[in-house]
Amino acid sequence: MPELPEVESVRRGLMAARISAPIAAVWRSEHALRMSGDLAALIGARPGAVGRRGKYLLWEMDAAGEALGLLVHLGMSGRFGVARPSDPRVKHTHFVLRLEDDRELRFVDPRRFGGFLVGAAATLKGQPPLAGLGPEPLDAGFDGALLAARLGASERCLRDALLDQRAVAGVGNIYAVEALFLAGLHPLTPARALRASAWARLAEALQRVLNQGIASGGTTLKDFRNVTGEVGRGQDDLKVYGREGEPCPRCGQALRGFVHGGRSGVFCPSDQPRRQIR
Ligand SMILES: [Zn+2]
Repeated sequence: MPELPEVESVRRGLMAARISAPIAAVWRSEHALRMSGDLAALIGARPGAVGRRGKYLLWEMDAAGEALGLLVHLGMSGRFGVARPSDPRVKHTHFVLRLEDDRELRFVDPRRFGGFLVGAAATLKGQPPLAGLGPEPLDAGFDGALLAARLGASERCLRDALLDQRAVAGVGNIYAVEALFLAGLHPLTPARALRASAWARLAEALQRVLNQGIASGGTTLKDFRNVTGEVGRGQDDLKVYGREGEPCPRCGQALRGFVHGGRSGVFCPSDQPRRQIR
């Protein structure tokens, strides 16, 4: 599933495509998405800046002075592409914005866990799903103390606690597993057991893996593509995720896999000892 770095890569790709011509027409497939709004409200609107909050994109659209927004979640496999109207539409295209400059913005999502909403930008920002999101891990001021304030009382294990979008926005399984390795923390340690120094290490590790993911253009394990259709390079940077049984890059011991709450993960039994709280 696209996490913060993948969504940020898409945001940057959309900005780089310089999409600013007004929307001339819209098209929507007949297939249900996880959430769906009224695209027709965007006809005549001029696309502006693309923002990101957690794993959501919020695209500002200027409709004759009214600030509208197109909120998009990529789900498991959603992606945007820019095409000419004459280009054949690939299978699983679910909505299209035709621009007055003879380009189309196409949203493709084979697994249909993605979706979109349309509304006044201020309303979209002030209501779920955006309103309930936790702090942005790459914002100034995000640190161990903030992370501890959000998660320090949680009975859940660290890996699961980090996936809670209300606690911290944008982190998914890949970057949670990588950050816990970097911080030397066992993924199944209860969050409430951590001390301040460990929260500080974890906050720093999260920022490092997320920044690295963005610098690599996102991580492509299966479906992720950026706006130009390319895969990310972040999978080459993964230290432990997906490397169960391989030697730990730090100590050489075999990395161990686990499944908790229906989600898999990987850790180094030597560098991330269980219940070691520092
Ligand atoms: Zn190790």
